[in-house]
This record gives sequence, structure tokens and C-alpha cells, in this order.
Amino acid sequence: MKERIQFQEIYQQLGIRKEVMQLGHDIEKTLTKVFKGIDQVSEYNQLKVLKAMQENRVSEVHFAATTGYGYNDLGRDTLEKVYASVFNTEAALVRPQIISGTHALTVALFGNLRPGDELLSPVGKPYDTLEEVIGIRETSGSLKEYGIAYRQVDFLKDWSIDYKGIQETLSDKTKLVTIQRSKGYDIRPTLSVEQIGELSTFIKNINPDVIIMVDNCYGEFVDIMEPTDVGADLVVGSLIKNPGGGLAPIGGYIAGKERYVNEASYRLSAPGLGKEVGATLGLNQPVYQGFFMAPQVVAGALKGAIFASAVFEHLGFNVQPSSKESRSDIIQAIDMASSDAVIAFCQGIQAAAPVDSFVVPLPSDMPGYNHQVIMAAGTFVQGSSIELSADAPITPPFTVFYQGGLSWHHAKFGVLKALQNLVDKDRIKF
Ligand SMILES: *Cc1c(COP(=O)(O)O)cnc(C)c1O
Repeated sequence: MKERIQFQEIYQQLGIRKEVMQLGHDIEKTLTKVFKGIDQVSEYNQLKVLKAMQENRVSEVHFAATTGYGYNDLGRDTLEKVYASVFNTEAALVRPQIISGTHALTVALFGNLRPGDELLSPVGKPYDTLEEVIGIRETSGSLKEYGIAYRQVDFLKDWSIDYKGIQETLSDKTKLVTIQRSKGYDIRPTLSVEQIGELSTFIKNINPDVIIMVDNCYGEFVDIMEPTDVGADLVVGSLIKNPGGGLAPIGGYIAGKERYVNEASYRLSAPGLGKEVGATLGLNQPVYQGFFMAPQVVAGALKGAIFASAVFEHLGFNVQPSSKESRSDIIQAIDMASSDAVIAFCQGIQAAAPVDSFVVPLPSDMPGYNHQVIMAAGTFVQGSSIELSADAPITPPFTVFYQGGLSWHHAKFGVLKALQNLVDKDRIKF
């Protein structure tokens, strides 16, 4: 038996004082049962991914690089089968040519909508960057410019889904319904997979031909089910979030019914070419390995989010969700109440990073966003938010959105470092 490890010295060396470390340990102890539940989801999802890899006979040859047109890229085609198995779909498009989550959503939308069609969001305003894609904010090249109209049904006052409003808004012209699982950077609830299933069934009962697409960003592997297990036709996400497991250096995915995935592929490459082209340049191996690691990485990030919630809840901050609520994404929102506090939090997260820990982030303008934003991300992959990161639009109530962490212990350290920075800057009294 090893002696009990003394943590104080190493935490101290990393700038965390004893009181802050002790608070962290005390809060962690209260979360034992919740963490056990997360480990079980992770165990299930680990086996689900393993099964998909074995059944599709993933092999060393699949890691070989292709170049040029990328015809007959066996590794790419098999990877897409693995994704399709895990998401329980007919097909998938998983490509390094998909730059980001916004790009994946753009490809799925432009590929499946035609002039005269209507797009409906039944769960309020979509993620900020999609406002320009759709044309909610006037932008050159938006869906609106191509004659695709957009309708939106907001949540009711108690944040429940406005089924009556959706029934009234669905029309013969509605071709595609987009459902955002995660709250993203918004103050709204995250939808559970079960809720998405109920909503999908409701919509299909009114119009069975409508395509149901779920923006699955930040949601993958948080549950043992995915939206495509409960009636969604398409799920879309980013490989520098959950399913990349922190190892995928680039990419996005679109999984779902073959027809709709193919339509997306004609938009990503070219009509007539579709999925047949697209070299992977040697990127398959980290994308496979990241997908394999993803259940475990997501579990660590989820524990970090719950820990952040519990710590700041304990200190009297307004948090969403609370540490007790069940979760469907890895994002934690905390109202910091002042711009100084939000900046101190983010600077603490940056100081906890393995990369660029000495950099001090400041608020700035960002393409696609309405307000100045501060972003803390000392990541191995640029902008990767499955890695420990925090972002905040500089506007009341000064909500910081915290997410990621490639391991639970790094996420824990990040939260403590943010807290220590707030204490040091006199934003929190201890
Ligand atoms: C991150 C995110 C996106 C956009 O992804 P990017 O990779 O940042 O372009 C879209 N929707 C939601 C809910 C997200 O969290």
C-alpha cells in the first residue's frame, strides 16, 4: 500500500492555495454518486464504439494516407461506417474537409434545402454563427438569399416546448426542422435525447416527409442514446468537440438517412461527385483514435462541468444547470455578475492550460458573434472546446460558458485555478 498522497505542495506550486484546494476536495466528495452514473454511461458508450470498430473490421490499413482526389479511401469509407453504426444511421459523412460545426451544419442545410422551401427551428434562436448562414442577420450567400425562408417557434415562458405554436407554424413548405440539442451560448435549457424524440415524433405525425436535423454539438456521448436513436433523420457535429476525443485535429460529421447524407455530400464536394472523393491526407488515424477515446473524454468533461456548477453554486453564484440536474451536453453556464469577474474567470482557465498558459486573454470582436467575446483556450488543437476552455460574451448577466477538459483531473484543476484567480483579484472572499 502506498502512503496517502499529499496534494498540497503540488497544488501550491501550481498557484492553488490550501483553502481553495480543500474546498475542491470537499465538493468532489459530495459528487461521488453523480460521478458513478457518468462512469456507467461512459462504460456503455466505450463498448458501443468498440463494437462498431470491431464489426466494421477496422484495421491498420485504414490509417494509410490518401492524396489527390482521394478515390477509394478505404480508411475514410470505413470510418464513416463506424460513425453510422454508433449513431445508428444508414450513412455518415465524416471528413477533414468539413472545417467546423458551423460548416457541417451549413453543408447539411444547403444540401437538403431548395429554393421555396422553409426551414423551421422549433426551439428558439439557433447558435449565433447560424444566424448568418440562415440569413437571420443579412449576409451574402445566406439561405435566405437562395429563397429559403426561415420560421422560428420560441420556447414558452417556462422553457417548455411550444407544441401548439409548432403545429401552427409547420406547413407544406416546411422541408427541414433544425433542433439544437445544446443551449450553446444561450440562456435556454439543453434538450435531452428523450425530449428530442418526443418532439421528432410530434412533428413526424403532422408531416412525415419533413427532415429532422439535430445540431448535436457538445451532446455526443453524454447519454447512451443519440438523437438518431429516437427519430432524428440527421445529426451534425464538430470533431473538435466531443466525438473527436481531443485527438482529431480537424473535421465534422453528418450522420443519418442515406438520401440526406448524400445530398449533403453533393454540397460538400460537387454534384455527381459526393462521397466518392476527398483525400484524408493521413488524418484518419487520430480521427479513429479520438472517436475511440471520446466516451472517456466526454465523461471527464462532464464531471468538470458538474464540479464547476457545484463549486460556484456553493459560493452563491447563479449556475445553469445546477449540479443536481441531469445533463445532455458538456456546457456549464455561470453568471459572474460583472465583466471583471468574467474576465478573471477566463484568465484563470487560460492559466490552467497545458499550452499557452502564460497568455492573458482579453475581450475582442469575433466574426459571427454579436458582442465582444473573451475566449480562454490553451489547447493542442486551435479552438478545440472539448479541451478545457471558457468563453463569455461581454454583456449582462456576464455569463461564462465553461466546457471541456481532456481529463477530469485537468478540468478540476481548471475550475480551481479560475476560482483562485477570482479570490486573488478580490472578486470572491474566502
Ligand atoms: C459549437 C457549436 C456550433 C458551431 O460549431 P463551430 O465548430 O464553432 O463552428 C453550432 N451549434 C452548437 C450548439 C455549438 O455548440
